[in-house]
Amino acid sequence: MISLAGKAALITGGSRGIGAAAVKLFAQAGADVVFNYHRSKEAAAQIEAEARKHGTRVEAFKADCGKMADNKKLVEQCVARLGRVDIVVANAGVWNLEDLPIEKMSEAQWDEMMRVNLKSVYSIIHFCVPHMIKQKGGRIIPISSTAGQRGESFHTHYGASKGGVISLTKGLSTELARHNILVNSVAPGWVATDMSNPVLQTKAGAKMAAAVIPLGRPATAEEIAGPILFLASDLANFMTGEIINVNGGSVLCG
Ligand code: NAP
Repeated sequence: MISLAGKAALITGGSRGIGAAAVKLFAQAGADVVFNYHRSKEAAAQIEAEARKHGTRVEAFKADCGKMADNKKLVEQCVARLGRVDIVVANAGVWNLEDLPIEKMSEAQWDEMMRVNLKSVYSIIHFCVPHMIKQKGGRIIPISSTAGQRGESFHTHYGASKGGVISLTKGLSTELARHNILVNSVAPGWVATDMSNPVLQTKAGAKMAAAVIPLGRPATAEEIAGPILFLASDLANFMTGEIINVNGGSVLCG
């Protein structure tokens, strides 16, 4: 029932984790997809090959999404290869594994988190929106986090960056509604990807996840990609400015 046939999607951070699951699911739903990798060139090539089995155009490009120039080029590559950009999933992001108390957090660490997790979202959207305005519509789906809703001690710069993504989503939803551009975010809780597995795969981490997540386990990347696909589809035509919680019941807020 969900079909993205004829749609062109740009997904950042498509080489691994949630982004990779979204690339494959979007291709399965019939979308042409351009995605970026930053460091994981081989993983990106593999995702590209797997997604292409569904018969749509899928192309990976290298980009550091924290850089304006790279995002400009990525959007240009998407439009050059696919002819348009109907959907952008601003997913690329980083999280620091080790605890970082605020008094030890350096300016460089703060700036890098904001650059990769927040500026990247602003900047990819900045370059997509003129195309979407011309096309008289579009879907923007930034990936935030429960950390942006409730904060995250010892990872406060991460939580602040994701809180920024949530605010950006809400502000843009009302700003861009007149252009028929819908802006909704997916806010995952713990997801079993390379980002969180170093915690989740420890004995203490597995115990923690079972205790704090009412569904008793972390999400798979595919279980986050599903709601992203829904937001990109015609089934979500009257939704904008929403933050969709996909966290197994661990953080309940609207
Ligand atoms: P992941 O498995 O670590 O994958 C991160 C992706 O982002 C990779 O494709 C990586 O590309 C890309 N990336 C990182 N830095 C980049 C940069 N500077 N420029 C371009 N691409 C960059 O992470 P994930 O778990 O899938 O997370 C995806 C999103 O969900 C992130 O925004 C994250 O904050 C959010 N999230 C995750 C969780 C969780 O528990 N996993 C929870 C809540 C929210 P390369 O590998 O090619 O470098």
